[in-house]
Amino acid sequence: MSPLSSPAIIVPETLADALASLAELGADGTPLAGGTWIMRAPLRDEPMAHAYVALGRIAELRRIKISAKRVEIGASATHAMLAAALERCDDLAALRNAAAQSANPAIRHAATVGGNLCARRFPAPDLATALLGLDASVEVADAAGSERLTMEAFLAARGALGPGRIVTKVIVERTGHRSAHSRLPLRKAGDYPVAIVSVAVRLDDADRIVEARIAVGSVEGVPRRWTALEEALAGQPIAAVDVAAIARPRADRFTGRDGVEAPGWYRVHVLPVLVGRAFAALTSAAT
Ligand SMILES: Cc1cc2nc3c(=O)[nH]c(=O)nc-3n(C[C@H](O)[C@H](O)[C@H](O)COP(=O)(O)OP(=O)(O)OC[C@H]3O[C@@H](n4cnc5c(N)ncnc54)[C@H](O)[C@@H]3O)c2cc1C
Repeated sequence: MSPLSSPAIIVPETLADALASLAELGADGTPLAGGTWIMRAPLRDEPMAHAYVALGRIAELRRIKISAKRVEIGASATHAMLAAALERCDDLAALRNAAAQSANPAIRHAATVGGNLCARRFPAPDLATALLGLDASVEVADAAGSERLTMEAFLAARGALGPGRIVTKVIVERTGHRSAHSRLPLRKAGDYPVAIVSVAVRLDDADRIVEARIAVGSVEGVPRRWTALEEALAGQPIAAVDVAAIARPRADRFTGRDGVEAPGWYRVHVLPVLVGRAFAALTSAAT
C-alpha cells in the first residue's frame, strides 16, 4: 500500500459476513476492533493493513452472558462494558479490576477484549493477564468453523493466529476461586503498567491454599504463570503466609524486558510487592 492511500474498511453486520470477508482478503485483511492499538501502528513503525474488517456492528460479539457456572464474554465487549457487567461477580474481581483500571476512561470505552488478546507484541495486556490467572479459554473462528483453546495455548500461538481467523469469545468457568489483580502504573495516566500480577486462589475449609494461579504481565514479552511461586504456596494458610517473602527468591524466574517506561530489572524487582498486594486484597475481600 502506498503511504498516501487509505486502507479499505469493511463493516459487516454478521459474524458469518465478517469471516467471509476475512477469508476472501487473506493476508491483506485484518480485524478492526476498538482501534486503540491499530491507530498507533505508525508510532511502532508498523505498516497499516490493506483492508480492515470492522467487528463493532456484530451484536453477538458484544454480548456478555453471566450464569452461576460461567461467564462468556464476546470479543467486542469493551473494557468498560466488562467492568460494569462483572459488578456483582466478586469471584472474578481480578478481571473486573483489570477492566476497570487499565489505560484511561476514554480508552476503556473503545478498547475490546479481543483486541487486548490479539494485539501482537503488546506486552502489557491487563485483561489477557487476568484471564490467564482465571484459566479462561478462548474461542477462535474462521470461515470453516471454530475451536476452543486454553489461554496458555492461545498466548503461545497468538502471533500465529493467521489470516482469516478471529477471536469470537472468552469463557471463564466460575470454580469458587477468589481472585485479585495488582498492577504498577506509571505516573502519567493512560500509560502502560510496569508490571501486572493477577491471582486466583482456591482454599480448603481450613483456609489453606489448595491451588494458586499467578499470572504475570508486562515483565516479559507475553504474560505467563509464575509456577515456582504457585507450587511454594500450595498448602499454606492464607491468613498467615508472607507471600512477598516467599516470592522474593523466586522472582529470578523472570527476565524483565527493557522498555521506555522502565528497565527490565525493575519490572522483576517489583513483583514480590505486587503479588503481596494481590494476596492482601484477597484476604481483605473475604473479611
Ligand atoms: C495510551 C494507551 C494506554 C493503554 N493502556 C492499557 C493498559 O494499561 N492495559 C491494557 O490492557 N490496555 C491498555 N491499552 C489498550 C490496548 O490498546 C487495548 O487493550 C488492546 O490492546 C487493543 O484493543 P482494541 O479493541 O483497540 O484493538 P484494535 O486496535 O482494534 O486491534 C488490535 C489488534 O488485535 C486484532 N484484533 C482485534 N480484535 C480481534 C478479534 N476479535 N479477533 C482477532 N483479532 C483481533 C486487530 O487485528 C489488531 O491486530 C492502552 C491503549 C492506549 C492507546
